[in-house]
Amino acid sequence: MAKIFCVANQKGGVGKTTTTVNLAAGLAKLNQRVLMVDLDPQGNATMGSGVDKRQLARTVYDVLLGTATVAEARVKSDKLVEAGYSYDILGANRELAGAEVELVDLEQRERRLKNALAQVMDDYDFVLIDCPPSLSMLTLNGLCAAHGVIVPMQCEYFALEGLADLVNTIKQVHANLNPDLQIIGLLRVMYDPRVTLQAQVSDQLKAHFGDKVFDAVIPRNVRLAEAPSYGLPGVVFDPAARGAQSFFTFAEEMVGRIGKM
Ligand code: ADP
Ligand code: MG
Repeated sequence: MAKIFCVANQKGGVGKTTTTVNLAAGLAKLNQRVLMVDLDPQGNATMGSGVDKRQLARTVYDVLLGTATVAEARVKSDKLVEAGYSYDILGANRELAGAEVELVDLEQRERRLKNALAQVMDDYDFVLIDCPPSLSMLTLNGLCAAHGVIVPMQCEYFALEGLADLVNTIKQVHANLNPDLQIIGLLRVMYDPRVTLQAQVSDQLKAHFGDKVFDAVIPRNVRLAEAPSYGLPGVVFDPAARGAQSFFTFAEEMVGRIGKM
């Protein structure tokens, strides 16, 4: 049975998509069966997995509206299959932006994704959901479906403030919609220990959140930033790079964590 994780943070540009695709590929390399769900209308995780979002016949939009099943809409990326890091992709494109409004009138509107994923739970070890930068109906569908939330964050001054909003949302979803939901962990990303402020915020995070802070730390690494333009996760584009290595470490840590869930 799959464990489902949302990669969420209501801030944009904090590394959600980078975390999702690199963790997916890192887990695939560890022979885990992975489905990556792109819940962001920008479709960056789709493109970053080597799938052209404009060419998709079916996307997560169809799944949410009930016009396709996950089994009908999921695709594979030739590039990833070739490289030996294959995971399944439930893609997204601009069409998904309309779902926000269209879902309002549907029954169980927050549970559409959860119900759809229920049919493929035996096909996977991990389902990873890349959330949009908002606490919208789309993100809510992700949170309702998930067992846990992975929160990528930069160790900056305002990071802790933003975290409070997310923690509150997760508490509300936990209380009202999804009693399984927990924060699995905070992932420090784009980290540069030479910046004193970052080291301080990192220490604060550990003091506040203890075990909830992942041991793995993702450094700022230009190879991770270059990879999407080649339609590849960084761990596939340049597996030897420091950023890629840190994501392999993180994938191992995640496998260890689900063993204890
Ligand atoms: P989000 O999905 O939260 O909006 P992204 O994963 O798209 O964030 O990252 C935002 C930008 O930062 C992208 O251009 C990405 O390539 C870059 N980036 C993400 N993580 C790193 C990293 N560890 N090192 C360098 N650049 C990074
Ligand atoms: Mg993104």
